[in-house]
Amino acid sequence: MKINVNELDKYIDQEITFSGFVDAIRDKKWVMFVILRDATGKVQMTIEKSEEANAPLLEIMSNLKVESTIKVTGKVVANEAVKLGGLEIIPSNIEVTSIAEDLPFDFNNLDGVNIDTRMDYKWIDMRNPRNTLIRQVESCMTKAMRDYLYLNNFTEIHTPKLIGAASESGSEVFEVKYFDGSAYLAQSDQFYKQMALAGGLDRVFEVGPVFRAENSNTNRHATEFTGFDLEFAYIDSYEDVMSLEEDLLIAGLTAVKEQYGDKILEVFGKEVIVPTKPFPRMKLKDLYEEFHERYGFDIPKEDIGDMNAEAEKLTYKLAQEKFNSEFMFITDYAATKRPFYHMRDEEGKLQGYDLIWRGTEITSGAQREHRYEELSKNAKEKGLGKDVEFYLQFFKYGCPPHGGFGIGLDRLTMLLLGLSSIKETQFLFRGPNRLNP
Ligand code: ATP
Repeated sequence: MKINVNELDKYIDQEITFSGFVDAIRDKKWVMFVILRDATGKVQMTIEKSEEANAPLLEIMSNLKVESTIKVTGKVVANEAVKLGGLEIIPSNIEVTSIAEDLPFDFNNLDGVNIDTRMDYKWIDMRNPRNTLIRQVESCMTKAMRDYLYLNNFTEIHTPKLIGAASESGSEVFEVKYFDGSAYLAQSDQFYKQMALAGGLDRVFEVGPVFRAENSNTNRHATEFTGFDLEFAYIDSYEDVMSLEEDLLIAGLTAVKEQYGDKILEVFGKEVIVPTKPFPRMKLKDLYEEFHERYGFDIPKEDIGDMNAEAEKLTYKLAQEKFNSEFMFITDYAATKRPFYHMRDEEGKLQGYDLIWRGTEITSGAQREHRYEELSKNAKEKGLGKDVEFYLQFFKYGCPPHGGFGIGLDRLTMLLLGLSSIKETQFLFRGPNRLNP
């Protein structure tokens, strides 16, 4: 494996090979400094002009454009005068491994570069350390949450994304040609997670793509995003689901803070705050009342029983003012506004929640309806017929009480780093007008 910049200090006074991008070339009178870069940092390569043996190396570097990649054989030397990590590489051989043309924009200064141009050339945009950091932080968060679940006996599953029937409702689903007929892209893995529980696995999760044919151009909607979804059995109420989500997010944010907290503050100006349990909870009705009293805000008629973007923003304000928290669980949504598989109690009260973080919904969760008769009734009420027939069967042959939730991973990352849009957050954004690259 290649030696990385952040490992070079282990090789002081040794002959090594090092590969990376040519980040900058500073051609001085007596010496040429070449800054090399890889995913872990930058290092200086120093070529003395007075040394005859260096002539071919200088010749190679003089004709090379920045962002080309090279493989250097040379000695790692400790040198306090070198600002970049206190060491330098003194090369004896340089091999050019790829040649770069002039770049379409300066990735080190993205101010004023159109977001569409940046997305067109995502692989160049990403070379800005800020953008590599987005990926690294997301990876750290995902790993920590995965680790937490593995430690707690969850099994990671992979469910199909090509499905035969629109899963929850027909409106937000992409239809694709499938031989002589049609298939659909999965809007969620909800039904299959539950099927796994009916199959005897107690605790399952999946990190995978979710497709939504939402023709909306908000800062937080994509047509394809990554869902971090889980489902677990033998719960007593949706309180158990919220409790697990608290632990999961605490595990994820603790790891991110430890590994990247300082960097995130430096680069994005955002403090990573690890929340404590329990996160505040409010019933929707009480929330509306507080909104009215505190902020003179009333939820529009069409959104009664639910939230809208403005209400999510105010929830953050309220969470901070009232509970000194960045998070808030909202419960007691109207059953008419929620999917048919969310459980309701005897009075018809919904046994589910949304979690709002920093002004945006990141999760919907619930105890699920596992009783066949009830579930069939709820589905009928929503006008869902044949399409969910196969799903209802999962509950006919014994299925433990259970619940779960889905986190939008892209939104989590966006909010964690305080990014203004999911376009900037996703590795490759997918929206109504964007399918490439
Ligand atoms: P919203 O009301 O914001 O459109 P939703 O109620 O449709 O979200 P769910 O179906 O509950 O969302 O999906 C679970 C999670 O997935 C959401 O809480 C959110 O974090 C994320 N999510 C949903 N839709 C999108 C989308 N189009 N792009 C990115 N993330 C999304």
